[in-house]
Amino acid sequence: MALEKTLAIIKPDALEKGIIGELCKRVEDAGLKIVGMKMMQLTPKKAEGFYAVHQGKPFFAALVKYMSSGPCVVMCLEGENAIKRWRDTMGATDPEKAAEGTIRKDFGTNIERNVTHGSDAADTARSEIGYFFESGDLMHYEWI
Ligand code: GDP
Repeated sequence: MALEKTLAIIKPDALEKGIIGELCKRVEDAGLKIVGMKMMQLTPKKAEGFYAVHQGKPFFAALVKYMSSGPCVVMCLEGENAIKRWRDTMGATDPEKAAEGTIRKDFGTNIERNVTHGSDAADTARSEIGYFFESGDLMHYEWI
């Protein structure tokens, strides 16, 4: 088992729904630690850069508008297999297809307004964490 870091975002629709606390509890219940956390409102430019991989797709403009529509909470999570563990906790991109008990199943509105983000691989986790955090921003816990 590998100790990993991943990037999580509590997206603007989650803040509208008032579920920051619930989602942080889901993080901790999944055995993950929050080692970096900040609230911000993404500019359209910052959202475009974050989702650059989706540039050219039909939903790109709407995605950028949604992600910059209100504040979000950006977190760096750490734990054993944190990347997959957080993806499993979130559930599938489309809440209708997400498994029972996952965050997106429980709180997602549709394939766009799906409450959370999680990095999908080690290289994207590294670059996404660096997109929002300086290494000095991240806390270090004693792991037993
Ligand atoms: P994720 O890794 O599960 O977040 O999924 P993707 O990387 O494929 O997509 C990034 C984000 O774009 C998703 O979380 C959704 O908010 C949005 N998105 C993805 N697919 C669609 C789509 O088909 N339509 C719309 N409107 N939004 C989408």
